[in-house]
Amino acid sequence: MSRLSDKATINLFKNSSLEELSQLASEAKLQHHPDNTASYVIMRIVSLTNVCVADCVYCAFYRRPGDKDAYVLTQDQIFAKVDQLVERGGSMVAMEGGFHPKLKVEHYETLFRAMRERYGDRIEIYGPTIVEAIWIAKSSKISLEDCLKRLMAAGLRWIPGGGAEILTDEWRKKLSPKKYSVAEYINGMRTAQRLGMGTTATMVIGFGEPYEARVEHLRHLRNLQDETGGFASFLMWTYQSQNTALGGSVTSNDDYLRTIAISRLYLDNIPHVRASILTQHEKGPEALLYGANDFDIPLEDQVTQLAGATIENNTDQVLNWVRARGLTPVMRQPFPIPACK
Ligand code: SF4
Repeated sequence: MSRLSDKATINLFKNSSLEELSQLASEAKLQHHPDNTASYVIMRIVSLTNVCVADCVYCAFYRRPGDKDAYVLTQDQIFAKVDQLVERGGSMVAMEGGFHPKLKVEHYETLFRAMRERYGDRIEIYGPTIVEAIWIAKSSKISLEDCLKRLMAAGLRWIPGGGAEILTDEWRKKLSPKKYSVAEYINGMRTAQRLGMGTTATMVIGFGEPYEARVEHLRHLRNLQDETGGFASFLMWTYQSQNTALGGSVTSNDDYLRTIAISRLYLDNIPHVRASILTQHEKGPEALLYGANDFDIPLEDQVTQLAGATIENNTDQVLNWVRARGLTPVMRQPFPIPACK
């Protein structure tokens, strides 16, 4: 199949049926994953602080410095959460937080070193996100490259793509004007990939953005992947609207399925497309019939939970949702770090 142009992709968004998209995306998935399995990891997103000065209008999680319910987790609190994850068979912890004005790179070095000492390779640490890493570098008055090198020396191997939301400058200004331009985001990812870190690509839909904005977002990801090959996977989820300044409603599961199928077709150079159980709940595994081949079972994500997402605590229940779609779930280890071109 020839590569999708932007124009053809817009046309797919506007004129194709869900059935057609399911068929096309399933064929595309088979090029990468020629069997009837769906891989998964049990994971936890630990929000190590809720203090943030980024002021994203879609966020229900953050608190301003000095707010009475602002927090920074201690190492012992973080260990308790990760211990519980390991007991539940989890292998991946995302360490995220806000743009904290006082936590410098040393704070993260100390934390990641302590986590590696305690857990070795039993867990993989994902985080901070690339936008948080840019913030940490700036507030520590060092370059992003130096910041990432120091975090790598402390045991960090992965930088997730959170903070992408919609990669157009127009939508970034509307949603989170302090969270860096498209060029800064992509350059940051490129820097992490060139240093040999694993990275993930993400997208969040449902803010009211037009299809053209989604396609521009996908184009930035595909172009960087052509250049570096550094993305291991693509994960897309839907904006959760409760308790946010932006408000509004949550886009439909049909829109989610349509967009995940088109993402699989457009991103022909990213091998793993992951379904969001976190935001789609029992309908999440349906994405496995629309081009996704992998999913997380999350134990916690404060950021989306405070905005309305519901965690399913029964792992077997999630696996049964997958089996009900005719697929065999297979627990995996964290993906290998892609070799950068
Ligand atoms: S989404 Fe992240 S960066 Fe934006 S306000 Fe919330 S915590 Fe801060």
